[in-house]
Amino acid sequence: MESVAVSKKRALVTGGSRGIGRAISRRLAADGFHVIINYRSNRAEAEATEKLILDAGGHCELYPFDVSDRAAASDALADIVKDQPLDLLVLCAGIRSDELLVFMSEAQWDSVLSTNLASFFSVVKPAVTHMMLNRSGRIVVISSTSGESGVAGQVNYAAAKAGLIGAVKSLARESAKRGVLVNAITPGFIETDMTENVPPELIKGVPLARIGKPEEVAGVVSFLAGPDSSYITGQVIGVNGGVYM
Ligand code: NDP
Repeated sequence: MESVAVSKKRALVTGGSRGIGRAISRRLAADGFHVIINYRSNRAEAEATEKLILDAGGHCELYPFDVSDRAAASDALADIVKDQPLDLLVLCAGIRSDELLVFMSEAQWDSVLSTNLASFFSVVKPAVTHMMLNRSGRIVVISSTSGESGVAGQVNYAAAKAGLIGAVKSLARESAKRGVLVNAITPGFIETDMTENVPPELIKGVPLARIGKPEEVAGVVSFLAGPDSSYITGQVIGVNGGVYM
């Protein structure tokens, strides 16, 4: 894809076209970033996000690739950092495919692990290499409460999301001296396509007694991308209404 020459700070949001990622893309554009919005295949939703940002006077571009395809992700990242600095990476793309482990197929295990966890290697490695050379950058990884508490039926998803937390903490230690801050956010139940079938009784069990809004996650990303979080790295910030403490 042709990269657009921009003077603004640049942010890449994987899975930035729908749900939580859309709210993050919109918030970062409102904060003044040029947002590179990644998605996998749903172009209509991505274009809707692009329009929302452009109509609000923000700057963005669409950049589809499959984060679970190592070659595609590596080509995309090489292209994204080739001429201009990348200041912020938000690793948000994710899927779930819930099943009790005894019934889980190999495909369910592999797809969830490759999209949610292996993408850390494909996407974060080239981005952090670039940022460490620039001695500046922020990385925010969207994990999940599931990776902290465990959830029956989500052995694959919880394993991936817990893996991300370990990866974030280790990379934060590796990159701090080079000026790159790496943090994770663990959302609880957030109202998106991914949670449309969550039973109401589960939401009643949340101390704040409601489902969260994607914008409530985006606000924390904005904080972790901004000047007020300059002494925060290797942290895991729950945005979960108190469902896990
Ligand atoms: P949605 O299903 O609403 O959106 C998923 C986004 O990820 C879309 O932009 C989708 O693109 C993209 N995506 C999926 N697979 C790939 C892929 N292989 N390559 C590139 N992009 C991909 O999800 P949510 O907004 O609900 O979730 C966003 C993140 O937050 C995920 O990591 C999820 O695990 C995490 N999370 C969500 C919670 C919730 O309650 N909603 C709770 C805790 C964590 P496309 O439209 O093209 O498919």
